[in-house]
Amino acid sequence: MTLPKPATLGLKKSFGYGDRLGLATPGHLAAARKFDFAPIFAQQSIREMARTQRTPDEVMQAAQHALAAANFTQPWGADADHLKTPEDVKVTAAAGFCFFTIDPSEFVNNRADAMPEAGLRASVAEMERDKIFADDGWKQLYLGKRFEIAHGCAFEFTEEKLFRAAVKYARAIAHSEMMGRHIASASSGRPFEIEVSVDETDSPTSALEHLFFGLELKRRQVPNVVSLAPRFIGEFEKGIDYRGDLDQFEASLKQHVAIAKFCGPYKISIHSGSDKFLAYPIVGRVCGNLVHVKTAGTSYLEALRVVARIAPKSFAEIAVYSRGRFDTDRKSYHISTTTAEINALPAFAGKEEALYLDERIGRQLLHVTFGSVLTAGCDAKGRPFKQTILELLHQHADLHREFLDRHFTKHLQLLSQG
Ligand SMILES: [Zn+2]
Repeated sequence: MTLPKPATLGLKKSFGYGDRLGLATPGHLAAARKFDFAPIFAQQSIREMARTQRTPDEVMQAAQHALAAANFTQPWGADADHLKTPEDVKVTAAAGFCFFTIDPSEFVNNRADAMPEAGLRASVAEMERDKIFADDGWKQLYLGKRFEIAHGCAFEFTEEKLFRAAVKYARAIAHSEMMGRHIASASSGRPFEIEVSVDETDSPTSALEHLFFGLELKRRQVPNVVSLAPRFIGEFEKGIDYRGDLDQFEASLKQHVAIAKFCGPYKISIHSGSDKFLAYPIVGRVCGNLVHVKTAGTSYLEALRVVARIAPKSFAEIAVYSRGRFDTDRKSYHISTTTAEINALPAFAGKEEALYLDERIGRQLLHVTFGSVLTAGCDAKGRPFKQTILELLHQHADLHREFLDRHFTKHLQLLSQG
């Protein structure tokens, strides 16, 4: 059997289906076939691969085998997500990934928003010394200019605003430039495309900061940038709906899209994009074709729904284990659920599926603990949870597919409403 290979998708609107268990592609495909979003079926971040002890090859092959079995011959993408180092690029390029998401968030300075003027000047001088810019001529590219990004929408940089944007993002942009060179060389002549993501940072990306970021990516010739993931206003928490002011979100998304057209064009990428049902009609309407939506953990929760229905005792054990892991595992995630809320969550005794799989507290509990459940977690007899989950998903592949199909059809329908 020859395995299908991923392709670059360019500026087609697209949807990413992360699959942490390697068995979700048939369900993803069932939903994807009904809509005109180009699908990304192999997608996992370096962090998630480490947490689930999977290799880039395993992630790729799980998607490839499922697509071959379904005789799927349309273009599909493969996203090596949240890459932080040249080594991350090397291992994912070797496995055949062709969409590379650069994550320079370690180099984003979240303190820039509140820094007094003297601090900004000192930070700019330090960046110039560190050769983040080739020379001090970079300011003249921005100061005293008017950037007419769309009809009736223009931006100008004051020195203070330029310095704030540069202090916040210039080191991240320089890191992205370096990563871009590694991606080009690791792809050794094969087509590739790049996303840059700053979604996992503390302070929202303003329109002017996005403009600076986009113009710098272009000036530094970071190759084949097809999407950028800003940090949006409001909260894009894992596993639950959008929290925040929808009118404000829409107004800022309009600016981000206009800037993406002006600097690229490239797509606006929505990370932690699953379950944002309130925001989807806005995203669909405002972005049109210039959108990528990325999801991952939500598919794991649909797998657990199969377990809850078929083997409630196993689900109860997983829930108890997850509660014990919550405090530790929540640390690297952006969620609002508290330990007190987890402690007050009723135990799963067979009928609490909605509490665990449809409502915020239960969903975030299960969302952040997936890595522990899938690697260290065992039932009372010492059998790894992962083994039980995979066995149930194999035995009840139809139910698994049905749950995923229904869940993602809801996502794609709302996104298509705009
Ligand atoms: Zn992200």
